Amino acid sequence: AAEAQNVTVEFHGHKAVDNVSLGIAKGEVCAIIGPSGSGKSTLLRTFNHLQEPTSGQILINGRPTVPGSRKPKPADLMQLRRTVGMCFQSFNLFPHLTALENIMLAQTKALGRSKDEARERGRHLLERVGLEAKANARPSQCSGGQQQRIAIARALALDPEIMLFDEPTSALDPELGAEVLAVMRELADSGMTMLVVTHEMNFAEDVAEHLVFMADGVIVEQGDPSSVLRSPQQERTQKFLRAVN
Ligand code: ATP
Ligand code: MG
Repeated sequence: AAEAQNVTVEFHGHKAVDNVSLGIAKGEVCAIIGPSGSGKSTLLRTFNHLQEPTSGQILINGRPTVPGSRKPKPADLMQLRRTVGMCFQSFNLFPHLTALENIMLAQTKALGRSKDEARERGRHLLERVGLEAKANARPSQCSGGQQQRIAIARALALDPEIMLFDEPTSALDPELGAEVLAVMRELADSGMTMLVVTHEMNFAEDVAEHLVFMADGVIVEQGDPSSVLRSPQQERTQKFLRAVN
């Protein structure tokens, strides 16, 4: 489980995230939607301290990620980055490494797994995302959708307790995006706790248990995805949904 408590993020006096509280239960999938610049990415990134909150705190399994002090220590950050896996719009794979090597690297570096162990886990994860045939291919030899699935496998290799996704399909053609969404759906079915910023309303409605609509740094409306999408209560939500539909 993960929780943001009264999280505010200020950039040059402007509150990109303004006193937001949000909890994700273990095994739950929570989707965040909202207009550009509403603070979705900024909020998501506070969950693994890629973005430091200006105030407020993040709890993972009920424990503050930064015990007692404002700045996390490097060792705390290391621990946090593997507990909270993340997948971005851009895949950030190492171009000079093969798919399998990309997935092995963090395991040997961050978890101290042996190469054999990391390789075996890597092969298993490539199979899980449907890419065992691409084990020895470099990212440049893979499609965007395949690269994103490799990036998901890489994050999963650290056995995270929660996965953050920031518009993982927005740089992809619909067809390639669908492959990535299928992997995410499978991941959700397997019980992974997920926080997903998305513009895929169908995915949000089908897969998420909870939907959050953000605008101007605050949660305007949230609840059961179908209810929020089909009968939004707030005018701001209605306006947004009219624009995207
Ligand atoms: P999009 O849908 O376009 O990805 P978003 O909802 O993810 O938008 P954020 O990226 O969280 O929005 O940005 C929220 C606000 O914070 C924006 O006004 C943005 O310009 C600002 N912002 C984000 N990151 C920084 C930063 N590192 N420095 C200064 N301002 C930032
Ligand atoms: Mg964003």
